[in-house]
Amino acid sequence: MTKVLSGKPVVEKIYNEVDNYIKSLNGKNLPKLDIILVGENPASLSYVTHKIKACEKHGLLYELHKFDNIEHQQLLDFIQTLNEDNSVSGILVQLPLPKNIYVPDVIKVISKRKDVDGFHAYNLGKMLTSNDFEDLAPCTPKAVISLLEYYNIPIKGQNITVIGHSNIVGKPLAVMLMNRNATVTVCHIDTKNLKENLINADIVVSAVGKVNLIDKSMVKPDSILIDVGFNKIEGGIVGDLNPDLFNYVKAYSPVPGGVGPITVAKVVENTVVAHKWINKN
Ligand code: NAD
Repeated sequence: MTKVLSGKPVVEKIYNEVDNYIKSLNGKNLPKLDIILVGENPASLSYVTHKIKACEKHGLLYELHKFDNIEHQQLLDFIQTLNEDNSVSGILVQLPLPKNIYVPDVIKVISKRKDVDGFHAYNLGKMLTSNDFEDLAPCTPKAVISLLEYYNIPIKGQNITVIGHSNIVGKPLAVMLMNRNATVTVCHIDTKNLKENLINADIVVSAVGKVNLIDKSMVKPDSILIDVGFNKIEGGIVGDLNPDLFNYVKAYSPVPGGVGPITVAKVVENTVVAHKWINKN
């Protein structure tokens, strides 16, 4: 029978540790997450709301800096003030940003020790060296690793195909899987034959955002599928997996209720990581 890899118990485990840390502070010098949101993108607003609610529920301080529009340099200067503010533990700039802002500049200016999204070149580079240095790695790849670990799904020696090679999901995830000695294949929009790269995979992670990208004909029945895709359709939200897989493969993570909520929990966890580092140094 197919196992459903719910994100719920993984999220509970993460928040349990966060709650214990917050309790240990006795209300003093609490971690604070500062979120910058520019423009009116409804999806961004919804992601930010989830992150704020998670902070609220678990006793972290937060501040939302919402700009209808802002000049490129003005945004960089604003981030610099947050870098220098000792009450700020973590800084998150919600992407995408309007076209007048060059995202790599924004990521570069965030203090590497407050970079809770893990997109700064310092944190990405650190992660390349070993899984001992993934403390501020990107949240969605971290979420996928935690999901696999929670359900005791082996990574070492497994053939794992990641579909999607973005800087925020596919690429860092491939590195994190290699850090754990998986044999990793990465597919993307220009991959010649997707099925050829999936059919022998023990684990497939799909991070594309395309409804029904993968179906029964493309994977083996004892494979494990992790669905990162997030697609709005009439009547709700679905991932990248065709429903014909839901009673065919060994296990799969659902959308919604799989990787998504774990990603939010990882933002909170990374804020705690950043707070601990600031306190120690
Ligand atoms: P992106 O648009 O930056 O990247 C998409 C990737 O998919 C690219 O590498 C592209 O080459 C590849 N691709 C596109 N069409 C393809 C095809 N037909 N075959 C193979 N590869 C194809 O997106 P992203 O930011 O990496 O996000 C990917 C998906 O994951 C989206 O649906 C996004 O909403 C979702 N997402 C979910 C979470 C979460 O927490 N659950 C977090 C981030 C992103």
